[in-house]
Amino acid sequence: MNREENLSQLKDETKIWDIAIIGGGSSGLGVALDAISRGMSVLLLEKADFAKGTSSRSTKLVHGGVRYLAQGDVMLVLEALKERGRLLKNAAHLAHDQPFIIPIYTWFDRIQYTVGLKIYDWMAGKLRIGKSKWISKAATIARLPAIKQKGLMGGVVYYDGQFDDARLAVAIAQTADAAGACILNYTKVADLIKNDSGKITGLKVRDEIGKHNYTVNAKMVVNATGVFADKILQMDNPEAPKMIQPSQGIHLVMDLDFLGGTDALMIPKTRDGRVLFAVPWHGKLVVGTTDTLREKPKLEPEALKKEIDFVLETAAGYLTKEPTRADVKAVFAGLRPLARPKEGSTKTKEISRSHKVILSQSGLVTLTGGKWTTFRKMGEDTVDYFEQVTGTKPNASTSADMKIQGNTTKPEKGHWGVYGTDAKAIHALAESHPEWKEKIHPDFPNILAEVIWAIRNEMAVKLDDVLSRRIRMLILDAQAAIDSAPKVVKLMAEEMGKDQAWIAAELADFQKTAEKYLIK
Ligand SMILES: Cc1cc2nc3c(=O)[nH]c(=O)nc-3n(C[C@H](O)[C@H](O)[C@H](O)COP(=O)(O)OP(=O)(O)OC[C@H]3O[C@@H](n4cnc5c(N)ncnc54)[C@H](O)[C@@H]3O)c2cc1C
Repeated sequence: MNREENLSQLKDETKIWDIAIIGGGSSGLGVALDAISRGMSVLLLEKADFAKGTSSRSTKLVHGGVRYLAQGDVMLVLEALKERGRLLKNAAHLAHDQPFIIPIYTWFDRIQYTVGLKIYDWMAGKLRIGKSKWISKAATIARLPAIKQKGLMGGVVYYDGQFDDARLAVAIAQTADAAGACILNYTKVADLIKNDSGKITGLKVRDEIGKHNYTVNAKMVVNATGVFADKILQMDNPEAPKMIQPSQGIHLVMDLDFLGGTDALMIPKTRDGRVLFAVPWHGKLVVGTTDTLREKPKLEPEALKKEIDFVLETAAGYLTKEPTRADVKAVFAGLRPLARPKEGSTKTKEISRSHKVILSQSGLVTLTGGKWTTFRKMGEDTVDYFEQVTGTKPNASTSADMKIQGNTTKPEKGHWGVYGTDAKAIHALAESHPEWKEKIHPDFPNILAEVIWAIRNEMAVKLDDVLSRRIRMLILDAQAAIDSAPKVVKLMAEEMGKDQAWIAAELADFQKTAEKYLIK
């Protein structure tokens, strides 16, 4: 996946792409993957890095959504369970089974969750990962050693999937690119181009790195910009009403021993009716999340003090070793692109979580809502609009069977697993330059060869791309990422032929971003 090569494809202003996608989060990447699976010519334009927005800030669950089942949204759960099964098969190096335990304190909860999760198992059908079951108090404590024991009756174990969101985004981008799509980061869609009858025929694009402007033609344009969807809709029609209500969720990252073991903790209903997860991930514990309505979409949303307090207090209600602010290695916030409720209603629970595809008069196709787990199906549903927009029926989708870059059922142990079959090539890089075997940070297993790999093969352009989304250090331990920045940026500058001024600017940019992940 080479940025310069892909950019050069934009120079041909006579080319007409079948489909041009705005946004390189899970939604846009799902559209790109599905469109390329149908043999279309595909252009994807992301204004920042792949998954820079919400798609790198999820709870990292590939799930049917037990909570939506409780809300009676059976179709949503069925669809997600099907996609969960597909993702675990097609990206086996990046998504795996994860047991979850719901600690039980009342008889009512015991019955409710045992029955509910049996239904969840049954709905997954052949794609079921494991059988849910009741476990005794002793077994619950053995599996969740740090769980509060007062009043504990036992636990219900169930299975879902877990994944690395930003790494999956990059792997999907690579997969689509290898199949012939033109995938670009740091290319912002600045305007829509229309013909005399008001139909969209193309886009004005700005290369944010090279500072060049391009004009591209496309038969169909997809707006997959998540919480930014209204901006594109208003580019299309300045009178368009706002559709998106950003809802913020935050996660705190702490040491694994706050929970102990390898199982995840799930609290379906906290005292104030929310869901809380504490999930082991890349050697740390990710705890969240909240649901706070925000007015403005942002690429780097900040966690609010009250959200941090809420997660800490709620977690403390279930854990023997109560976490404090000083225990938090990183905090990250993400914005859910929920459909805005009708006038006068602001409760997030009333807002639909399923995805929607909207066709505007201009032919603009907007994909909103949904979740990471269903990214492929969301893509398929969107590409299905091609016939309505262009009058030409597209080929049938084959994305359900497409293997994602690096896919293997036998990934290497430890942090190498996320690279799947590509891990070998990174080892070879390290062998060719033994100095690249050096660790990036003493507390992390990642080595310098991974930085070179990210630049050469994963379109990493900026320091933040490497430390936040190729290697997940920023969201695992913000201070470690800040400490690693000078070493990583120096190597990036050598590899990319950049000067001291670039180094200084990158360091300053990264410091500004990284501070948002520290709790002071
Ligand atoms: C806290 C939280 C936890 C979640 N947990 C889970 C989970 O565990 N499992 C799950 O399945 N789902 C989860 N989700 C949902 C899932 O993360 C989102 O539904 C999904 O990531 C949204 O992806 P997106 O592509 O629509 O938006 P984004 O990821 O925000 O992508 C939109 C992209 O568009 C780009 N863009 C905007 N304007 C332009 C422009 N003019 N030109 C070019 N590009 C542009 C942005 O830079 C951005 O990268 C969670 C969501 C949140 C908020």
